[in-house]
Amino acid sequence: MMAIKNCLECGKLCIENPSKLCPECYAQEEIHEHAVGEFLRETGKATIEEIHAATGVKEKIIVRMLKSGRLFSDGMIGYPCEMCRKPIYEGRLCGSCGSGLAEQVRKVNENRAFEERNEHQRTGLRMYTNDEIKK
Ligand SMILES: [Zn+2]
Ligand SMILES: [Zn+2]
Repeated sequence: MMAIKNCLECGKLCIENPSKLCPECYAQEEIHEHAVGEFLRETGKATIEEIHAATGVKEKIIVRMLKSGRLFSDGMIGYPCEMCRKPIYEGRLCGSCGSGLAEQVRKVNENRAFEERNEHQRTGLRMYTNDEIKK
């Protein structure tokens, strides 16, 4: 079944395909991909901003290529950490935001455990261990 969709890039109607782009934009994207690929082969490692500056390819397009996994084979691309926007090369957060987040989660869990203990003391309830339930 063929469906008609708007091209993701220019909005023109086209036959639905995995790239979600019309034939013209797809051809354009292949050129972009080639340029970015070449640049990465030369530099090995670059941020999206650097790629944009060097190739003129729109950052939006680079991000799309990155998300579709088409660029990883040719080199490392830095993209912004989702919290502080610092360039990172893997995952969704940079090291410091990642560990900061882990710390926050730990604190929340600690507080929750503390509140639960208080609750049990106040109501005189206590948690039964699995062994006690079995008896
Ligand atoms: Zn298009
Ligand atoms: Zn960060």
